[in-house]
Amino acid sequence: MAFITLNQQHFYHNLNQIALKTGSIEKIAVVLKDNAYGHGIQEMAALSQAYGIKHAVVKNYEEAQKIKACFETVLALGGEPHADDVCSFALNSMEQIKKAPQDVRIELKVDTGMHRNGIMLEELHEALETIKQRNLRLVGVMTHYRSADVLSSELFWQQKRFEVVKKTVKEAGFLNVRFHSHNSATLFRSRSFDEDLVRAGIGIYGYNELPGIYGKIELKPVLSLYAKRVATRVLEAGERVGYGGDFEVPQKMTVSTYDLGYGDGWPRADSADPYVTGEGMPLLGRVSMDFVSLACGKEEVCIMDDAQKAAKHFGTISYEMTTALSADIPRRVV
Ligand SMILES: *Cc1c(COP(=O)(O)O)cnc(C)c1O
Repeated sequence: MAFITLNQQHFYHNLNQIALKTGSIEKIAVVLKDNAYGHGIQEMAALSQAYGIKHAVVKNYEEAQKIKACFETVLALGGEPHADDVCSFALNSMEQIKKAPQDVRIELKVDTGMHRNGIMLEELHEALETIKQRNLRLVGVMTHYRSADVLSSELFWQQKRFEVVKKTVKEAGFLNVRFHSHNSATLFRSRSFDEDLVRAGIGIYGYNELPGIYGKIELKPVLSLYAKRVATRVLEAGERVGYGGDFEVPQKMTVSTYDLGYGDGWPRADSADPYVTGEGMPLLGRVSMDFVSLACGKEEVCIMDDAQKAAKHFGTISYEMTTALSADIPRRVV
C-alpha cells in the first residue's frame, strides 16, 4: 500500500517561523480543514497539540468532532452550528444569524471584498443588532482576503475595511470577541501582527505560494508520498508499457509497477509530459487507477516530497496536490 510520511521536525520548524511572526504560539490557529489539506487530520491535530497549539480551524462539525479533544477552541468554517463548549461556527449570512440556535458559539464572517461568503459590510449594523436581540454568543469576528498571495496593493484596502469592522463591533459593545483575518500569505507579508489569531493553513504544511519578492520565510514540506513495488519485469527495446502503450522502452530496462494511481488522488495528467518523482525518475506511460510504472526495482519509492514542485508540473497549487490525496492512504509520523 502507498503511504504518507509526516515530518514532525519540518512541521515544528514551520510553526516556529509562524510564531516568530505572530509573537506567540497562543495566537496560532492551525487550519486542519479537508483532512488537514490531505495530510491526515488526526495526526496533524496530535502533533499540533504536542507543540502547544491551542486553536484549530476545520471545515464543519464532523471534522471538529475528530480533533476537538486536542484544542481549547475549534472554529468550523461551515456546516450546521451546534452547541458545544469547544467549537464555534462561522456564520456567513443574515439568514444564518436569524436562525442560529441560541446556545451556539458564533463567529461572524464579514465580506470585506472577496465576495464569496460572509455578511456584506452594509449588513453589519443589522447583524450586530440581531445578535444582541437574539442573545447569541458572539465569540469572534473574521474576514478573508482575496489577493493576499498576489503581487499588488489590493490587500490593503480590504484590511482597511476590516479595521472599520473592528471599530464598529467594539462600539456596539461586544468586548470579548476575537478578531482574525490573516491566512498564511497575509501573515508572511505583514511586518507587524496585531490581531488575536492567525488562521495558518498552507504555511504550516511547508509551502509558501507568495511570489518570491515577498520576503524569504523558509518553510519545509511536511508530507512525503511513497509507493510500494507490486511487480517487476525486464523489457526489451521497442516493448510498450501501460494503457495505450504510451511509453516505448528505448533499450533493455527493468520496469516495476508501484501501488499509487489516480484512485488515490494522484493526477492522471498527460503521459506525454511525465511527472518526475522526488528521486528523479519519470513516470512511464499512463497513470492507471491504482498503479504507476517506473524504471526501477526498489521496494519503495518516494513519489513526491515537495507538493509545490509537483504542483508546478501539473499546473496547479500545492493545496490541490495534497488535499486530493485519499484519506485511506496510511499516514505515519517520522
Ligand atoms: C483555508 C482558509 C484559511 C487558510 O489559508 P492558507 O492560505 O492555507 O493559510 C484561512 N481562512 C479561511 C477562511 C480559510 O478558508
